[in-house]
Amino acid sequence: MKVLKFGGKSLANGKGLETVLSIIIDKVKQGQEIAVVVSARDKATDQLESMLERAAGGEDISDDFSGFKQYQLAGEDIDFSEEFSVLQRIFDGVSLLGDYNDKIKDNTLAQGEVLSAKYVAHLLRKRGIQAAFADSRQFYVTNSLFGNAQLQEEASHRRTLDYFAQFPKGTTPIVTGFIAANELGQTTTLGRNGSNYSASILANILNAEELQNYTHVDGIFTANPELVTDAKIIERLSFEEANELANFGTSILHAKTIIPLLENKIPLRILNTFKPNDAGTLICEAQDSIGGIRAISVLENYALVILEGRGLLGKVGVDARIFRALAQAQISVSIISQGSSERGIGFLVTNKDAHKAKQALEKEFESDVYSHDVSGVSLVEEVGVVSIVGQNLADFDKPYNALIRNQVIPLLINNSATGRNVSVVIHKKDLPKAVNVIHGEIFQISKRINLVIFGRGTVGGTLIEQIFQARADILKRRNINLQIVAIANSKEVVFNHKGISPADYTAFDTLKVPYQISELIAQVQQHHLENLIAIDVTASKAFVENYLPLVENGFDLVSANKIANTIGYPFYKKLRGTLTQYKKQYLYETNVGAGLPLIDTIKLLHHSGENITRIRGIFSGTLSFLFNTYSASDAPFSEILQKAIDSGYTEPDPREDLCGNDVGRKLLILARELDLENEFEEVSIENLIPPTLREGSREEFLSRLKEFDPIYQEIKDKAPQGTVLRYVGDLHGDLSQTATARLEVKLVSVPVTSALGQVKGADSIFEIYTESYGENPIVIQGAGAGAAVTARGVFGDILRIIGNK
Ligand code: ASP
Ligand code: MG
Repeated sequence: MKVLKFGGKSLANGKGLETVLSIIIDKVKQGQEIAVVVSARDKATDQLESMLERAAGGEDISDDFSGFKQYQLAGEDIDFSEEFSVLQRIFDGVSLLGDYNDKIKDNTLAQGEVLSAKYVAHLLRKRGIQAAFADSRQFYVTNSLFGNAQLQEEASHRRTLDYFAQFPKGTTPIVTGFIAANELGQTTTLGRNGSNYSASILANILNAEELQNYTHVDGIFTANPELVTDAKIIERLSFEEANELANFGTSILHAKTIIPLLENKIPLRILNTFKPNDAGTLICEAQDSIGGIRAISVLENYALVILEGRGLLGKVGVDARIFRALAQAQISVSIISQGSSERGIGFLVTNKDAHKAKQALEKEFESDVYSHDVSGVSLVEEVGVVSIVGQNLADFDKPYNALIRNQVIPLLINNSATGRNVSVVIHKKDLPKAVNVIHGEIFQISKRINLVIFGRGTVGGTLIEQIFQARADILKRRNINLQIVAIANSKEVVFNHKGISPADYTAFDTLKVPYQISELIAQVQQHHLENLIAIDVTASKAFVENYLPLVENGFDLVSANKIANTIGYPFYKKLRGTLTQYKKQYLYETNVGAGLPLIDTIKLLHHSGENITRIRGIFSGTLSFLFNTYSASDAPFSEILQKAIDSGYTEPDPREDLCGNDVGRKLLILARELDLENEFEEVSIENLIPPTLREGSREEFLSRLKEFDPIYQEIKDKAPQGTVLRYVGDLHGDLSQTATARLEVKLVSVPVTSALGQVKGADSIFEIYTESYGENPIVIQGAGAGAAVTARGVFGDILRIIGNK
């Protein structure tokens, strides 16, 4: 035979109740032998409790009570006069006395289950099923601890068997859950949510083949699905695992429920009433143990109590005093942690007990505080516990690192000496983020990366398109779910915590709202977004100020903007310090040579101890084009320059390229990679603009380009045979110290046959000279400018960051 248990929500009038009836009828018609245990219907228990409380407070509850009666009857022709009159008398009495006790309360709440079981039996009979109401007070015997009575096993066992033996064959008993009676026959209850327990006791006594627990959820999940959208159903759990989970707050699975099942190893299946054909979760004896992590559970509403003091070291009996004092105050202690240095002890109690615990300890240790052996008792309120059930310490690095990366710093970590699980105590506000982070890490659900893109210029726009295009593939191949949650220009933003769709992006101008960086950060936090990367594809000087707050709030940084790396060294250093402190990354490969893997290579060489002795190259695509073309042609300089302007190779005002500052900045960035602390002012830059053209408007400048011609003709004429002109950045000198390093940007003539001389089009080239490579530098060459390659480079940095996570 099987025992079926239905919870209150399943038994609510309407669809729930109908479904329950059809589940029962189907089974009976199939010839299955079943017994059914029911909870009170819908919210009956809560309603009875509240009416009782309000009656005691002298309130008039007659309207509520008639509403209650109407709901329970639900238009059926059934005799509930006995239960209703019990309730009426209790409410009258309680309202007269202004008080009630647990015994009265049990009698009140019990009516909910009685009404429910009678009702279900009645409807089944009406539909031709031979159902019998079974009042568990007739056979479950408990002590007299009203409200949470303990079962007397032997007596209950015997009486239950006798009681069930009287049913003629083919009868379906509909049994009240939750309730029992003491030896005097007075009504008791087994504790809130106790119907599950009632059902497993019955399954054990009747030696059922299976206990089917019909609930309003699909089964047991890897984590609370309200907190973790990726949570999955666990198909099968061993009794031990279920027990661990139950101890950590999985509410449908109270620890008490499992225990009666252990004796006869009766499998328990958690099912959804509304999806009765789904398999749900099966809890049974471990077969071949699946092992590993099974689930993550969360406990809220705890407080951390810390007793600290230097005089505790080696003292015997301190812990005993702590727990005695707490026991006397009726306070139950959860996780406990004490370091071997015995400088203090920390433990968890429920929030509501926190102050009581503090007072109890302050009282107990009053004289020790006086003698300075104990410095005091402190509280960290509003903490929560995330428990990873099945976690083995050998693999704890993954969830732990994921937490730290996402700035959830545990207050305390605990691995129980019994059972396989690790619990992490954290601030309550971090709970949703923490469960998601750990869950994603453990169950290898696609890792979601949240991107915030600042800047909607050509590079920004191209990047966004590249991301939209590559996303599906990255999800498939690398199991990474890349979402852009915000796109911002300097004043407005479009934010969507679920991720911005290409359609939203197209509608940027209609969806955008004004923003401040602090608001954007707050929004990101409010949605508990993890794995955050901020991408700066602006050229804004002001924006760089946001780097520090972004890092401090959990963002890694990717930047195509050169400012942060070229303003004063103190900022450079501060930013790096903050990054280290918050364990965040900052990548900016596109600062020099666009997407070419230059900075990455230099970093790798430098960090591996290779002595870089010189870096020289053509850093600017624009100036590369200009001199490559000029050297190879007889046309005047102004004509080539005009061509560069017309082809869009230059900045709107070409003087920004020609002044050499951009090359100077790039050279500085590379120097700083080698730990040189130079400032921009120390870069010697040969300005390519004749002094007479440096001032004045852009228009005026553009109209006087011819003035370049004689100057550059002369330079060309003077250059030795077989050479060409190249505008180079050169980091040389003794690079072991800032003072002896030379940073030069200048126009030089190099042999046509040299690497630099061979460069064509708008390519960039970099020669990295090192001690090991000697006279033959490492050469990196290719397109060093352009929106597509720069965006690709930024994208590469994003993927590098993800790869390191
Ligand atoms: N009706 C009781 C309660 O709500 C018992 C149960 O539903 O399990 O606590
Ligand atoms: Mg680069």
